[in-house]
Amino acid sequence: MLEAYLKSSCEIAAPCNRVDPVKETDEVYDFIVVGAGTAGSIVAGRLSEMKNYKVLLLEAGGHEPIGARPPSFYRNFWSNEDVDWSFRTVPGEYCLDQGDKGCMWPRGKVLGGTSVLNGMMYHRGHAADYVTWGKDWSWEKNLPYFLKTEGNKEIGTVVKDDYHSDSGPLPVQRFRYQPPFLHDLLHAIEEAGLPIVDDMVNPETPEGFTITQTFSENGQRYTTARAFLKPRRERPNLHVKLHAHVLKVLIENNVAHGVQYYDEKGQIQTVIAAKEVILSAGALNTPHILFHSGIGPRRMLEKHGISVVADLPVGQNLRNHIGMTLYFTLKKIENRRVLDWSVLTEYLLKGEGPMSSTGITQLTGLSYSSLANKTLNQPDLQFFFNGYYAECSQTGQVGEPVGNCSHKGMNISINAVALLPRSVGYIMLNSSDPLVPPLFYPEYFSHPDDMVMVKDGAKYVQRIIKSDILRNEYGIKLDSAFTSQCAPLTEWSDKWLECMARVNTDPQNHQVGTAAMGLVLDHTLSVYNLHGLRVIDASAVPTLTTGNPQGTIMMVAERGADYIKEHWSSNL
Ligand SMILES: Cc1cc2nc3c(=O)[nH]c(=O)nc-3n(C[C@H](O)[C@H](O)[C@H](O)COP(=O)(O)OP(=O)(O)OC[C@H]3O[C@@H](n4cnc5c(N)ncnc54)[C@H](O)[C@@H]3O)c2cc1C
Repeated sequence: MLEAYLKSSCEIAAPCNRVDPVKETDEVYDFIVVGAGTAGSIVAGRLSEMKNYKVLLLEAGGHEPIGARPPSFYRNFWSNEDVDWSFRTVPGEYCLDQGDKGCMWPRGKVLGGTSVLNGMMYHRGHAADYVTWGKDWSWEKNLPYFLKTEGNKEIGTVVKDDYHSDSGPLPVQRFRYQPPFLHDLLHAIEEAGLPIVDDMVNPETPEGFTITQTFSENGQRYTTARAFLKPRRERPNLHVKLHAHVLKVLIENNVAHGVQYYDEKGQIQTVIAAKEVILSAGALNTPHILFHSGIGPRRMLEKHGISVVADLPVGQNLRNHIGMTLYFTLKKIENRRVLDWSVLTEYLLKGEGPMSSTGITQLTGLSYSSLANKTLNQPDLQFFFNGYYAECSQTGQVGEPVGNCSHKGMNISINAVALLPRSVGYIMLNSSDPLVPPLFYPEYFSHPDDMVMVKDGAKYVQRIIKSDILRNEYGIKLDSAFTSQCAPLTEWSDKWLECMARVNTDPQNHQVGTAAMGLVLDHTLSVYNLHGLRVIDASAVPTLTTGNPQGTIMMVAERGADYIKEHWSSNL
């Protein structure tokens, strides 16, 4: 029923002004971009600004589903195989709460990619993060490209113009609604002696907690596809083909000249790139396409009968933030649904209220572990908060209890996350069939420092929940449903925290580095030893940034598109 109401609003349901895909592709394009996600949408959009070139954007998924735009539904599409690749890691000594299934790793399979199902938080990391990227990718060189994408709506009110821009195509601002509990959480954080800042992106305030700015406008999620891809009547030289699952890049004499893809009818199609193929299929899929194109570690490729085109360490530098989730119950608060008829009406009429936000998830914070070098202004811990979501209810009635436990207290959770983990994972081929996903080995906690950082983070959480306001007014207590596996150990002891980190692992979704600059790519994002093939997405990012990565990946996409434009305009 909710879907029917959302459908009644053209802007929320998304059909207005949306990209009109082609049914069939032409035989030849100048540029073929693979993956219409966070980075690919920017790359294709920017390349199509060169009106004399034809650009094809191939995307394995379909249109954005109804319900993707209200921010409060941001978790609704995880594990929905129509829009999520629904990857899982190879099981290890982590994510033990998920049985022997490994960790769940959501990834968008949809126009807009993972920017359709992420938390929308805007960050860029810190200047020190980019030192390891080489001189061509220094903070100073990257800053103009961060600004190029950003359309900040709160310069002069929430943030200063020193580090922000209002002229980019992607709107950035705080959500219009904050649950009252969020302000009490901020008081608790202050009580714990931790700083509150206005702007987490401002390099002058690297440490602190804040209500984050998000990729949003009029109470709706704003993806890079929405910002950068235009209907064909406006950009006739950009063709978007949906439900096109790319299998491999075609390479002859070390020159990439096209791709092969499966279409929606299960037919294999070939399309030629006269100038370049650009892989923007994300940190988990781009390496998979490279493997099947003959680019990767020789022994692994040969084992699967794939002819080697370039022996490169693809998939070998899988990096991700890692943390633990601590679950709590607010015993003094009744467990009532946030979404009801009045909330829906407020959203449909004004784009405001609980549906226009992500509950307490819009709060985040950065701080330092005992291993951090504070002089670098590079915090190595981040905190995330979960709860108070206006998600689907059963009756829509105001005050509907959740399940059968209406008086048992409201559930929230807090994640303590290491931003500079030392553990590095890898990706391996699982089959010679390109439709079979590869194997993901994240190697979480394989370096002992990572556990130290996560435990330090949990101790900050302990300080916050010990505040008078959370104890006295909310009756906050650890949720016993999530501590049973570690129950014999003393709560908050070192051993208990280690157990909790392995059971209630927070495997974040910030994977980068699987076809990294310096290892697989040169500084212009071209694959070493080949012509006409670049990687422009999270795979290219060599080391993690200390914050949410979408801002960084958008910057990489802007710079990558500029490298291509520069190359071909000087070769005209
Ligand atoms: C649950 C969640 C919450 C997150 N929250 C935040 C946040 O709040 N802030 C933040 O900054 N970051 C966040 N992130 C991370 C961020 O969203 C990702 O790092 C970023 O979107 C990755 O961008 P990308 O362009 O590399 O890949 P994607 O956006 O994943 O794009 C890849 C695209 O390629 C397509 N594709 C893949 N394989 C093929 C193929 N073979 N053929 C054709 N197409 C293909 C995919 O379907 C997809 O559309 C979150 C991620 C998740 C999963």
